[in-house]
Amino acid sequence: MKKLLSVRQLKYRESLHDHCGVFGIYAPSCDVAKITYFALHSLQHRGQESAGIAVSDGKKLRSIRNLGLVTSVFNENNLNKLKGFIAIGHNRYSTTGGNTQANVQPVILSSNHKVFSLAHNGNIINSSELSQKLKNVKRSSTSDTEVLAKIISVASGEKWSDKIINAAPQLIGAYSIVACSKKRLYAFRDPWGFRPLSIGKLNGYYAISSETCAFDTIGATYIRDVNPGEIVQIDNSGFKVLGQIAPHNLKFCLFEYVYLARPDSMLNNVLVHSVRYKSGEILASEAPVKADLVSAIPDSGTSSALGFASKSGIPFGEALIKNRYIGRTFIQPEQHIREQGVKLKFNPMRQIVKNKRVVIVDDSIVRGTTMKKIVEVLRQCGVKEIHLRICSPPIRWPCFFGVDTPERKQLIAATKTIGEIRKYIAADSLKYLSLDGLIKSSAQEASNLCTACFTGKYPVKVNLKLKKNVLESNC
Ligand code: SF4
Repeated sequence: MKKLLSVRQLKYRESLHDHCGVFGIYAPSCDVAKITYFALHSLQHRGQESAGIAVSDGKKLRSIRNLGLVTSVFNENNLNKLKGFIAIGHNRYSTTGGNTQANVQPVILSSNHKVFSLAHNGNIINSSELSQKLKNVKRSSTSDTEVLAKIISVASGEKWSDKIINAAPQLIGAYSIVACSKKRLYAFRDPWGFRPLSIGKLNGYYAISSETCAFDTIGATYIRDVNPGEIVQIDNSGFKVLGQIAPHNLKFCLFEYVYLARPDSMLNNVLVHSVRYKSGEILASEAPVKADLVSAIPDSGTSSALGFASKSGIPFGEALIKNRYIGRTFIQPEQHIREQGVKLKFNPMRQIVKNKRVVIVDDSIVRGTTMKKIVEVLRQCGVKEIHLRICSPPIRWPCFFGVDTPERKQLIAATKTIGEIRKYIAADSLKYLSLDGLIKSSAQEASNLCTACFTGKYPVKVNLKLKKNVLESNC
């Protein structure tokens, strides 16, 4: 019997997913809860399974955390209960089975009148070893983020700042973190700088965000990034760099440019849209094709498709319309609707594509299942030829640094040649962007980038045999 996909599976099956967006603000004269709400709203693409905000008024730390999108977790009433001058917020994408109430962030630790809250984007790869050190410490969740928070809480030092400085060198992996005590906001980032973390200013106060698009939303100005390994503190005496975990050794995630970040965000001072546009231009030079129309898999392929169209001189047009609200329902559709498969998410424009030679541009191929269905649906619309152009190299290796990838054997490019993938997807041609082309598009030094999911060259030693989520990555 043909296996049917649930709406959730349809949504998550094909793409890679980031593990979370974080935001923090210290602003005594502002409604920090509402500002954080709107910031999280603009970071929703980084995690859609749960959301939380913790606010301190200097004496008490209050929080609202729940499963669901930002708009379903928060409302005017509950936000009004979060009064204070420091806020941190979190959007979470969990690993399979990890989407539980206990794992919703920010994590809050409270003991002996001390309180500390933390929100994390990344993946601690030595969390199993670290959890051995916490044998006698009570745990309330199954996440690596709680391990991380508790390692900080048991580290030596009286002040939270000392504890962070002393705990951070024990952490291996990806972490971009915002945290707060009753009176201070903290931000720190792993020495490799895998995931982004930026500093902004609003009305003279400081904010920290996973992506700069949140600053645009709340009217803040982007100042700079939290440097790899840097620990910063913000309180009533202003902004202070507390220390450096280890020397700079930037290995920024190349896939943030390809898919994870919003096109209107700046990563390492480069607009993500420009990187994707450039990657489309380079791919048009590397893999030209005669066609009538260039189109994108919306939305992540759109910037690249525009670049491809511009360079190739082939007009850009919309072949597929995306239902942007499919993520809002977990209700199982009736069988005859489920059988439509990919049409729940993408509806083809029959009148536009019929009898045309169409170039379809996308950011990446993970398992190939969705792309195969899209090609099938387009063929049913009478498309004459379908040429796939992928604006990244083949993904052949899993990520251990905060992006949810399937096991290696499920990555289509790990088990098939490009020719076999083309055949499986049933496209007329299939070409990928070269790694050099992608790095050139990003305008970054190759040595400053993590490219492991394309090359298998991991910047930190990983055990490929270990199941990735021995301890669930909570973000
Ligand atoms: S392995 Fe890939 S997705 Fe993971 S950090 Fe490196 S480039 Fe990014």
